[in-house]
Amino acid sequence: MHEISLLENVLEILEENAKSQGFKQVKKVCLEIGMLSCVEPDALRFGFDVVMKNTLAENAVLEIKQTQGLGTCKHCGQTVPLETLHDPCIVCGSPGVVVTQGNEMKIKDLIVI
Ligand SMILES: [Zn+2]
Repeated sequence: MHEISLLENVLEILEENAKSQGFKQVKKVCLEIGMLSCVEPDALRFGFDVVMKNTLAENAVLEIKQTQGLGTCKHCGQTVPLETLHDPCIVCGSPGVVVTQGNEMKIKDLIVI
């Protein structure tokens, strides 16, 4: 399941931050997930408790914020909303919309002690 490897990446980042910033425990993790990233929020929630067990983020609360897909049309230059990675431009109908937002996952916020 690809959500598990994403969560393992998140855990690595948390551990590095814990070292550099000197915190011991994570209370809350706020993740921002693009709608185009093919990540299932439910699968993330389910995997979170498993991956974070016996780590500094055990019992942390996971908050997921989804960001809409956006792209710029190569043909007409408009910024258009995208529901999938390969949607055509809704303004001029041409394919070739370059995704500018919505296929990333990042840690937006952390609450630590
Ligand atoms: Zn267009």
